[in-house]
Amino acid sequence: MNCDECGRKDLNMDEVAYGHDCEVKSTKEYNGWKNHATWNCALFLANDEGIYNGAVAFMADYKGESPYIDFCKESGLDNQKTPDKIKWISEELDYAALNRAMWEFAPETAPCTRCETKVEPDSLTRLLDWNLCSDCVDDL
Ligand SMILES: [Zn+2]
Ligand SMILES: [Zn+2]
Repeated sequence: MNCDECGRKDLNMDEVAYGHDCEVKSTKEYNGWKNHATWNCALFLANDEGIYNGAVAFMADYKGESPYIDFCKESGLDNQKTPDKIKWISEELDYAALNRAMWEFAPETAPCTRCETKVEPDSLTRLLDWNLCSDCVDDL
């Protein structure tokens, strides 16, 4: 049997009946988030008023590279769970996606990875792992 979602062709009867670890399917299921845990944390990050306001304030002058984990530690969420009993920090989470969600709370303060000038995220050029401002792009 084949999986219509990811195209895997060698599914056994159990996998057909109970599902397999299908990343394509789960990404669709959780609104583009990698799994249920990541989706749940992102949900409360954006929709719990206290946490959301805290995240926006935290991002206003944040300069690091792991805003999600740093915010959880600073706000004491790192040992807690969401109201749906999902740990705010765990190996299951897609931190890259949660970091992107955090940067969206700071639209005017996304830093250029090279010179750390803060510019609007729209004007940053993405190059491998770098987000470059127009000055740094000109320097290349
Ligand atoms: Zn699949
Ligand atoms: Zn720059």
